[in-house]
Amino acid sequence: MIDFHCHIDLYSDPAAVVAHCEQQGFYVLSVTTTPSAWRITASLAKGCARIRTAIGLHPQLAAKRASELRLFDEVLPGTRYVGEIGLDGSPELADSWSKQMEVFAYILRSCERVGGRIMSIHSRRASTEVLDHLEQHPAAGVPVLHWYSGSKKELIRAVDLGCWFSIGPAMLWSRSGQILVSMIPKERVLTETDGPFVQLNGLPLQPGDTGEVVSFLSTEWGTTGEATIGMLSDNLTRLVTRWT
Ligand code: MN
Repeated sequence: MIDFHCHIDLYSDPAAVVAHCEQQGFYVLSVTTTPSAWRITASLAKGCARIRTAIGLHPQLAAKRASELRLFDEVLPGTRYVGEIGLDGSPELADSWSKQMEVFAYILRSCERVGGRIMSIHSRRASTEVLDHLEQHPAAGVPVLHWYSGSKKELIRAVDLGCWFSIGPAMLWSRSGQILVSMIPKERVLTETDGPFVQLNGLPLQPGDTGEVVSFLSTEWGTTGEATIGMLSDNLTRLVTRWT
């Protein structure tokens, strides 16, 4: 199973989560919300060949933690993965909007400077602005839009810009999310959980809780579960080897 956007460091027992991933052979992108969280989060997965740790600055924290951008730049040469980054246009974050854009643009420029990175991107209520920024920084790397929830029109634009998509169970819990998932080209899809933020029946999703997505994609694509898993695994290989 592939979980391309999971906050391992935010579970109550991160070591147990890592051990479970290792035992099950899950491929996990362990994203961080602040640059200062990177070192400890990366050390949790030390020696785990299938867990990669991304350096991030979540848009909800971008304004408060902009001072950590220097640390972001220090860590960046040593990792091929960046996230969680992006923009959040929710009304409660309106005060930080201009700072969010400043931080996001800064991060994209940093990624360009080091030759591009694989980026896990948050775009809630901000898909147009996220895509505008990506368009202005084409050398920043490969954008993977996590839990995309924008319009169909912007989804088509995102595909044209070369974006990939990581899809979690929560995207399937609304009809509009299902329609978006059905529009994404097969070769640009990965799975995710966004655990522990996403909960089911009061419990956080665990890495690898992506079976519901695999079933949905199998129906969409007319493939067996096994073939769907094979396709997702080919996608991951293609994404990662291009950026080795
Ligand atoms: Mn997240």
